[in-house]
Amino acid sequence: MDEVLFRALAERVAGYLDGVDRLATAQPWEAGRELRRLAGAWRSLLGQHTPTGRKRRCGGCPAPRGSPAMCSVWRVAGAWFARA
Ligand SMILES: [Zn+2]
Repeated sequence: MDEVLFRALAERVAGYLDGVDRLATAQPWEAGRELRRLAGAWRSLLGQHTPTGRKRRCGGCPAPRGSPAMCSVWRVAGAWFARA
């Protein structure tokens, strides 16, 4: 995936997860804890799937065939967290 496009996607997803953390502070304690847990789990998962190396391939998925592409973890995050 193009580095500029990936960075734009990563910023949108990070902004969404930051928003979830902010929302968590306005919730009852237990609901806020669960929102923070979900956001933290997504950050961890996305961190494990950050493209690395010269060819910018996912560091968490088996080597893809063909050209480097965004892995399924980032595709799901983009579809759910980066839409308007
Ligand atoms: Zn991956």
